[in-house]
Amino acid sequence: MSFLVLENVHVYYGGVHALKGVSLTVEQGEIVTLIGANGAGKTTTLRAVCAQVKVREGRVTFQGRDITNQPTHEVVSLGIGHVPEGRRIFSRLTVKENLDIGAFSVRDKSLVKRRLEQVFACFPRLKERLNQKAGTLSGGEQQMLAIGRALMSEPSLLLLDEPSMGLAPVVVEQIFDILKDLNQRGTTLLLVEQNAFQALQLAHRGYVIQNGEIRMADAARTLLENEEVKAAYLA
Ligand code: ATP
Repeated sequence: MSFLVLENVHVYYGGVHALKGVSLTVEQGEIVTLIGANGAGKTTTLRAVCAQVKVREGRVTFQGRDITNQPTHEVVSLGIGHVPEGRRIFSRLTVKENLDIGAFSVRDKSLVKRRLEQVFACFPRLKERLNQKAGTLSGGEQQMLAIGRALMSEPSLLLLDEPSMGLAPVVVEQIFDILKDLNQRGTTLLLVEQNAFQALQLAHRGYVIQNGEIRMADAARTLLENEEVKAAYLA
C-alpha cells in the first residue's frame, strides 16, 4: 500500500479543466517531485491533496484512508503538512507567533514547546529571530519559517510548493539541504518545483505534468538524463 495515492483526479476552476485525471503515488520515506511548466497543474495537485480545491472525479488516499474532499484541518490532523506557494506567512506577526499558528490544533503546551525545539534544530536561524516580525525576514528565512510552521503539526508527509521561488541559488541550496535532512529524519516529501534540475537531484522519483496530465513518471536520475526533459525543463 502506497503512502499517498492520487487516482484519476479531476479538478475544475469554473470552466477550466485544470487536472485531467492525475494519478501518482508517494511511498513512505520517499522524496517525490512533480515538475512542469507554468500553469501545468502542479499547485492544483497539491491543493487537491489538502482539500483546498474540490476533486470532482477520482480519489485521494493517505495511508490507505480515503481523504478525498475531506476538510483541510482533518487532512492536517492525519499528518499532512502543506507549505503553500508564495509562503503565505503572516508578515506582521513575529516568527514565534507564526510558528504557534502552525500548532493551532495542539492544546498541550509542553508538546508545542517540544515541537518548537525540533523546528529550531532544523532552523537555528529562526530561534535567533523569534521576536522579529516575519515580514522583515530575508526571502530564505521566510521560506524557512513557512516550512517550520508546517512542521509544527509534525507531519509525516510534507507537501512543498516551489520552495525555491525567488531565492538566490546559494539560499536554494540551503533550503534543499534542509529538505534532504528532514527526509533522512523520516519525513516523506512531495515537492512541486519549476526548478526541475535541483528538484530531480534531490528526489528519488519524479513526475512530469503538462496541461493537467501526467506525461512521464520515472526515477529522478532517469528523468535527469531524458532528452525530452532536458530540452523542456533543464535548458
Ligand atoms: P505555476 O508554476 O505557474 O504556479 P502550476 O503548474 O502550479 O503553475 P496551477 O496553479 O495548478 O499550475 O494551475 C493550473 C491551471 O489552472 C492553470 O491553467 C491556471 O490558470 C488554472 N487556475 C489555477 N487557479 C485558478 C483559479 N483560482 N481560477 C481559475 N483558474 C485557475
